[in-house]
Amino acid sequence: MKDESAKIPQATAKRLPLYYRYLRNLYTLGKQRVSSAELSEAVKVDSATIRRDFSYFGALGKKGYGYNVKYLLSFFSKTLNQDEMTGVALIGVGNLGTALLNYNFSKNNSAKIVMAFDSDDSKVGKRVGDVPVFSMGELKSRLCQEDITVVILTVPSTAAQVVTDQLADTNVKGILNFTPARLNVPANIRVHHIDLAVELQALIYFLQHYSNEAENSQESIMKS
Ligand code: ATP
Repeated sequence: MKDESAKIPQATAKRLPLYYRYLRNLYTLGKQRVSSAELSEAVKVDSATIRRDFSYFGALGKKGYGYNVKYLLSFFSKTLNQDEMTGVALIGVGNLGTALLNYNFSKNNSAKIVMAFDSDDSKVGKRVGDVPVFSMGELKSRLCQEDITVVILTVPSTAAQVVTDQLADTNVKGILNFTPARLNVPANIRVHHIDLAVELQALIYFLQHYSNEAENSQESIMKS
């Protein structure tokens, strides 16, 4: 099997966690193989896309046999760094930030929010979802101390750029941006943008205009 994760297209890489989660369930259930049709039904990605995705990791399913679950799982787990826990920081402990802290990705054992920051003194010093909330004055030193590389941004959009600028000179390489603001970042920082209002609006629009074609469509994971 190839270990060329760096060459996997971004759209494929985005689907990996989805495949991983399903394959882990299969493995737990004692299943040894899975067909692309079965996978397709479970993760709602068409089987041609699955076959193409899997071909990038050199996993070629055999006709009438399908894919070896254990083999794929060990590859995905390596590629997704599942053995390593990534400590994440959250900035902005408002309504959305609080929800994410309480959720804390507990079903995913590879990423965990380990610290939070807020400019509101009444929130500093508290724990939310068992995560400590620190002042913005402590941002740089705490991020560097714990070598945090990923930050979730849930501040108001008006504060997003100012806060992002404060991440300079830290080891942060990725920002999950929940604000509607488009961020200017240096080349070494990657931003993934999740605008819940836009996603909801897009879904409603699709339901209104393309309701007949909505069946089986998993927009965000199918997008390249
Ligand atoms: P709440 O009502 O609890 O403030 P909210 O989600 O409606 O929740 P927002 O105005 O979206 O509030 O702000 C989200 C959080 O971001 C708040 O906790 C706020 O204190 C914090 N915040 C605002 N500006 C900054 C900033 N510059 N740096 C860090 N945190 C900030």
